Amino acid sequence: MNAGLIIAIDGPSGAGKSSSSRSLAQRLDYRYVDTGALYRVIGLLAVEHGVSADDPERLAALCDDLPLRFLPENGGVRILLGAREITAAIRQPEVSQMASKVSAQPIVRRRLLGVQREWGAAGNVVMEGRDIGTAVFPAADVKFYLDASPEVRGQRRYAELQDQGVSTDLQKTIQEMAERDQRDSTRTHAPLHPAADAIVIDTTSLSLPEVVDTMLRAVQATRKC
Ligand code: C5P
Repeated sequence: MNAGLIIAIDGPSGAGKSSSSRSLAQRLDYRYVDTGALYRVIGLLAVEHGVSADDPERLAALCDDLPLRFLPENGGVRILLGAREITAAIRQPEVSQMASKVSAQPIVRRRLLGVQREWGAAGNVVMEGRDIGTAVFPAADVKFYLDASPEVRGQRRYAELQDQGVSTDLQKTIQEMAERDQRDSTRTHAPLHPAADAIVIDTTSLSLPEVVDTMLRAVQATRKC
């Protein structure tokens, strides 16, 4: 078996990236890296420190020396910033929107690029985000781009927020998700789009095991090459 594969998984919110990435990593015994969490931390800090999404210098300062730790627990991941638990705080809708706004700033993307490359460099990793296959690891061994209909993505995102105890409603969730996807895919720096060599999976009517099996087959095929 070849060691050290880097597997990139990109796509819009609600496409099923997180659950399939986590499950794929588990099946392969690889590390799972959620790069969205990194942008969410900057979004959280910007909200808390009153930093505008249009203030690149102050945003850049927030990216320096982040004392972040990801602790796998019960099939999920707890996220600590220093001694502070921020797992739930970074999932709040306000932080989702801010994460998407700050991630459009080229200086923020540049500052966070090195950390992401460090996390993935050793391989044996499933890395999830918006630009992993296009910008973070353009030479990743296997690239997937997950997508689904807006209705299904909105419903999944709503169910996810409910599971996390975030109070919101379906229409608001769909509206906010659409705004975020529009911003993520039209920004000038590293916009969301499938890499030319990505395997595109439409998850609209697929179950999680079906998505993961499709991914596993592609990974096995790469290993045999
Ligand atoms: O994946 P998640 O929804 O947690 O990401 C939050 C936000 O972070 C996205 O809407 C996107 O703006 C940004 N992001 C990004 N590049 C990544 C991962 C996330 O721009 N690789």
